[in-house]
Formats: sequence, structure tokens, C-alpha cells
Amino acid sequence: MDTTLSEAPFRLVSVADYEPLIGAEAADRLLRKAERLRDFHVVNVNSTYYGGGVAELLSSLTLLMNASGIRTGWRVIEGRPDFFSITKKMHNALQGAEINLSEQKKRIYEEVVYENAVRMHLDHDVVIVHDPQPLPLVRHFRRRAPWIWRCHVDLSEPNAELWRYLAPMVENYDAVVVSLPEYAQKLTTPQRFIMPAINPFSTTNKELSEGEIDERLSRYGIPTDLPLVVQVSRFDRWKDPEGVIRAFRIAREQADCTLVLVGNVATDDPEGQEVFESLHDCEEERIRILSVQDTALVNALQRRAAVVLQKSIREGFGLTVAEAMWKGTPVIGGRVGGIRHQIEDGVDGFLVETVEQAAERIVQLVKDPDLHRRMGEKARATVGRRFLMTRLMEDWLDLIDSFETDFRLRAAPGG
Ligand code: UDP
Repeated sequence: MDTTLSEAPFRLVSVADYEPLIGAEAADRLLRKAERLRDFHVVNVNSTYYGGGVAELLSSLTLLMNASGIRTGWRVIEGRPDFFSITKKMHNALQGAEINLSEQKKRIYEEVVYENAVRMHLDHDVVIVHDPQPLPLVRHFRRRAPWIWRCHVDLSEPNAELWRYLAPMVENYDAVVVSLPEYAQKLTTPQRFIMPAINPFSTTNKELSEGEIDERLSRYGIPTDLPLVVQVSRFDRWKDPEGVIRAFRIAREQADCTLVLVGNVATDDPEGQEVFESLHDCEEERIRILSVQDTALVNALQRRAAVVLQKSIREGFGLTVAEAMWKGTPVIGGRVGGIRHQIEDGVDGFLVETVEQAAERIVQLVKDPDLHRRMGEKARATVGRRFLMTRLMEDWLDLIDSFETDFRLRAAPGG
């Protein structure tokens, strides 16, 4: 059966589109690296097609890699609600929360992943498994190619009991990729550090006219008469939506503004609906809380905002931070995890530790459009330099290439 695509009704974003943003030299270098891996067959496995940063990353990165001649696939594991309830608890525990890890929970987790393995038929040149949900997959395949576990969460203080259980599975992989050196764990497996990145051409990030922004905001009845304070996040306690509301209430005593919290609920996150509902009572004319899946709205809000918050308590890396910064909007971020490496405090945004500090920075940015503009320009330049998808693709190609050489050597006679 011929499974190659026969026609191209849509145009894919390619490295050439990035050239005006990254320069000819960087674009050429990336294309040369892609050429070395031409026709390579790579597969990514995660647990949701939408909602959350991993899905956002994979949708852009897999297409860009295909557009560059590397056959890169994306599979999503399926599971019952009890499976995702357990894996969400694991996600929380990897970020430091307590967990009650019963034998029954382990059994459901391992059994569902085994069932997925049976259906998956992986015989790729590289397998990249994302986050804890599909982690045990590696046990069910005879490995003829490198398997990489890419963990996106903030691993600065994982729950010890959970880590003891997961570590032997992690050690079945050929490499582990986390976002920062401070997430490295005691493991026999080599660990690499790659920070995520954004796609400037996606619906979330592409340029919008003022008219398009107005149209999108009015569709949701978002008032634009006062400056907008915005946080865009899955409804998740680690994103501290209550803290954002408290900071806003303090700030508006000194500066008139409207708060908009926009969030979605990922299919692999059963706690989202509960967190969303717990915020209902906070809603009022100047505090809008929307649960929608509308990336054009995210784009419009991040562009129009006087200030964007990402007041997370834990954050592996905040794509929302990079997205807003790319749009020239200063971000007030929690001084945690990846955010500390994304924002240079006082230069291209602000880092805060408390609700009061967040409130103070909101007032400062709302009242001083000139500060907003200066910080916003620097923020955009930071993302252009460090957090565009081409840089992420290059990091992955370098890693895959190093494994390719290693595996080829091992496979060679006498190797
Ligand atoms: N997002 C979205 N709609 C929402 C909330 C979030 O499209 O209502 C997107 C957001 O723009 C970003 C991703 O989901 O691209 C969230 O990634 P991030 O790294 O900030 O956090 P995660 O959800 O992975 O913890």
C-alpha cells in the first residue's frame, strides 16, 4: 500500500519562513542538519492532542520536521478516566505533591500503557515518549533504536516515593530530556536539557490587526475600555488562578483595569473542570473567567493585554510566557522553574514570589505605557533569540544525530 501523501492542499510552514526571523546562516545550518537525517522515521508519543504545552509543541514541531524531510509522527495514547486520574496525580507528585500510590493504581497505569503498546506497532528510527502517562511503553518493545523520555514537568522536587517507582522505567530509556539542568535526577541514563519554543506562525502567535483583535474580544464580550490584565492557562492549581485574582483585587485599588482569565481543559487532565468551577464565585463585571478552546482568543488577549501574568507555583517551562513576550507584552511570572530562565527580572518582564509583589507590578505596568513598550520590545527580542521553533528543532536534530552515530557504531560489525 502506498501511504505517501499525493497532494498538498495546504502549505506547511517551513524553515524558509523562519529565515527573516533567524537569519540566513541559522536557516542554512538547520537545513544542512535536517539533510543528514533525511527520510529518518521519528515518532512522538504523548497523551493528548490538545490542551497544554506538549500538544502545542508537538503540533508545530512535527510539521516543521516533516516539511524539512524528516518523517516525524505523533501518536496519542488512550485511556479511561481512572487512568488519567492516576496519571494526573503522578504529574502533580512529580512537581512535589503527595501521592497515595496503591498497588491497584500502579496496575491500572501499567495495564493501560501495555494495551496501548500492543496497538502501537513502533518500528521507528527514534522513539520520543513525552511525560509520565506513556512512560512504561519502553518495557514492551525490543529496542532497536534509541528511545528518549522527554519530561516536561518541573522536576525540581519530585515526590520521593513516586520517583522510586518510576526511576527503573526511566532507566530503560537511552536518554532523558528535561527543560533545565536543575531538573536532572540521579539516573544511570544520560540526561540532556532542551527548552521548549513557540511557532510564530500558529493561530496562537501569528500577527493580528487591531480590527481582528477587537472582533475576537467582542465575540466573548470582553470589555476593552480599561487596560486588560490577562492570564492564559489550563485550569490547574499549579497556575495559581486564585493568587492572580487576589493580586488583581489589590492592584485595582490603585489602577483601574479588567482581569481576564482564560483557560482550557486538556483531555488528560481530569482536575481542570473542578478548578474552573471553584473560581465561579470570583466572577464579576471586571473579573472575567472563560473556559474555552480558542487559540485566536489567546492570541488577541496576549496582544491587547497591558500585562500578562503567569503566576505559577511550579512550571517546567511556560509556553504562555514566551507567547506573550513574542507579542511585545511584558509578563509577570512566578519566580519558579522555567519561568526564571525565560524572564530577566526588571529587563524584559518581572519575576514575583508573592501576591503582593504581583499586585505592585501590575499597577506599575498598567500605569506606565512607556515601561510596557520598552519591556515589551526586549521581551520580543528575547524570544526571537532563544525561543523560536527552529532552535528547538535544531536541538532535537543534534540529539538524534548523536544517537544515530552511536547506534550505527554499535550495530556495525565488531561495534
Ligand atoms: N492554551 C490555549 N488555550 C487556553 C489555555 C492555554 O490554547 O485556554 C495554550 C497556551 O497558549 C499554550 C499552552 O496551551 O500554548 C500551555 O502551555 P504552557 O507551557 O504554558 O503550560 P502547560 O499547560 O503545558 O502546563
